[in-house]
Parts: sequence; C-alpha cells; structure tokens
Amino acid sequence: MRAFVEVNLNAISNNIKLVKSKTQAQILAVVKADAYGHGLIPVAKCAVDAGATWLGVALLEEAILLRKAGIKVPIISWLTPPSSDFKQAIELDIDLAIPSLKHLEVIVAAGKALGKKPRVHIEVDTGMTRGGLLGEWPEFLIAAKGADIEVVGFWSHFARADEPDEIANQSQMLEFESKLAQLIATGITPKYIHLANSAATLTNPNSHKNIVRLGIAMYGLSPDVNTLGSSQNLELEPAMTLKAEIHLVKRVPAGSPVGYGGTQTTLRDTKLAIITIGYSDGIPRNASSAAGVFAAGRKAAIIGRVSMDQFVVDLGADSNAVAGEIVEVFGANGYSIDDWAAASGTINYEIVTRIAARVPRIYA
Ligand SMILES: *Cc1c(COP(=O)(O)O)cnc(C)c1O
Repeated sequence: MRAFVEVNLNAISNNIKLVKSKTQAQILAVVKADAYGHGLIPVAKCAVDAGATWLGVALLEEAILLRKAGIKVPIISWLTPPSSDFKQAIELDIDLAIPSLKHLEVIVAAGKALGKKPRVHIEVDTGMTRGGLLGEWPEFLIAAKGADIEVVGFWSHFARADEPDEIANQSQMLEFESKLAQLIATGITPKYIHLANSAATLTNPNSHKNIVRLGIAMYGLSPDVNTLGSSQNLELEPAMTLKAEIHLVKRVPAGSPVGYGGTQTTLRDTKLAIITIGYSDGIPRNASSAAGVFAAGRKAAIIGRVSMDQFVVDLGADSNAVAGEIVEVFGANGYSIDDWAAASGTINYEIVTRIAARVPRIYA
C-alpha cells in the first residue's frame, strides 16, 4: 500500500486506563478533529470500552456522526457558532457549551421550537481570553435564571496547563471557583464541573473536579515534551504509526542535487529511496532536510525538499532497502511523532491532526 496510518487501539485503551487509575473523576475522551487524526468512530468506541463515560468534540458535525454511529454516552460539542443546527443537536441529546449570551438566546429558542430542554454546559473564561463568558457574566447570571435549559455542567479551559508551576493556573482555578459560587448563589447547581485537559490531568489533581477532558494523552503523546517530558516519561504509548512504500531505489554519485531547488546535494556515492507520501498527505514541507524514515533496520534522513506526494531519503550505499518495501515514517522504531514535530517547528498535536483523509487508517 502506498501510504497508511496504523492505529493501535490497544495503546489508546491502555492510556485511558492508566489515567483512570489515577483519578476519581470521570473521563471525557476528546475525539475532535477525527480523534486527533486517529479516526473518530473506532477511537470513540475504543475509549468508551476502556472506561471513558463522556465524549467531547469541537464541532456539532462530529457529535452528530458519533450519535449516528449508535454511540449513547453523553457527548459535549463546544464550538458551535450561532448558525449551528441546535435543533438537531437537542434532538440527538448532544450537550452544548454556552460561551455567550448570544448562545443562550439561540439555544433556548431552538429548545422552545422543539419542545425539549437543551442540555448545556456553561463555559466561563477564567483567563485564557478565548472561549467562554467574560464581560457578559453578570448579565448572563440574570438571564440564565429561569431560562429553559438543563444546566448539566460548568467548565473552563487552561491556557498554560503544560507549565504546571505557572501562577496563571492558580489564578484560573480561583476565578473558576468564584464564578461557580456565583452561579450556585443564583440557584443553579451544575452536576458536572470540568476544567482539566491532559496536561492538568497529569500534573494537577486539584483541577480534576468530576470530569477530566483527556485529549493528547489518550493518544499516547505528551502535552509538552519540554516541560512534562516524553511519552515514555509519562508512561504513555503513542497510538499512531505512519508508513509508506518505497517507490524506487536508485544509486547516485556524489554531487547529485536532489529535488526542487537542488537544496541538498549527495555528499558521497549513495542509494536514494523515493517515499510515496508528501505534503498533500500532511508531511510538513518544513521538515525538508530534517526527520526521515526507518528503512531496512536503520534511519534514513530526508534529502532535499518534501514534494506534494513524495520525498527522497538517503539510504546509504550499503542499505538493503528495496522498492516495494514499506517503511516507517514515524513510529516506535526510527523517528517519533515528537521528532517530526521538532524537525518542522511545531507540536505533536499538529503532526497527528494534519495527516490527510486520503491516507487510510488501519486498526490493530
Ligand atoms: C482539545 C481540548 C481538550 C483536550 O486538550 P489536550 O491538551 O489534548 O488534552 C480539552 N478541552 C477542550 C475544551 C479542548 O478543546
């Protein structure tokens, strides 16, 4: 096969069970962005089997796909702009975030039109200055009182949870508690309180409340390799391996310029391999001349620029790699997802989510 992603569902299951063993909170498995590129439905089912009792997605479309696949656990969709099909969401028992007065208004209206109370999670901005109620909070407290909604949850999001010693985390927690107390004082007591992403789940038990929203860690990746250490340090097992086929192998003399722009030239007589995956598949063009593949038992570095559908690696003159062979682009043997992230100046989250839909996902 030309190129494919192997997803190790066992690893995802183990990562969830590890976190579950360390918290009293329920686990919400974050499966937005096609489960961080791992495949929405298979990962969601695996997460529920492993003990996750909630699912979380950004888009309503993602939540609808989960319901249509027959998944029954509570699902929160938290990035639903005012034009979203809230009626369908309410019909399908999809929990909605309320991050503004406008959202309260349109969600209440959809519930009225349907004759069914929307299930909502009130989202407060506690210092990230992105989603959630901020300046509108006092007005919201008045508007929410007596509104036709079932307030299931109250939540916020950390900006700097991957820097556990950062004081901003403490101030966000204080702000969170204070707004929760104000909500309760108006007579609204949400059953579920949630704040922690993976980094907070791994480093800050005080932030767990009664649900933790587990994203990157369930895929076996570290929220930040610099501050929290590698997957291995965190005892997490990366679930995604990317593989591609060798299109052809050729011998070239020293001094051959390789690829567009001839940005790199062979320094010796060597063998090159063309790998059948490129930037349209999600291989970062920025990784040109960095990262590489694991072929015939050893690392082979990219030489020259990554092209749209292919890139070239230097195998070395004595390599045994042959055309038709499947090599590991990232995985447990050669270059890791974190190596590719470092080589292209980004984070592991982006490496896994950018692998294109044209690359099939295979489950083991
Ligand atoms: C993506 C996301 C998460 C998960 O973050 P990780 O760092 O991947 O654990 C949690 N909560 C919200 C609201 C998110 O958007």
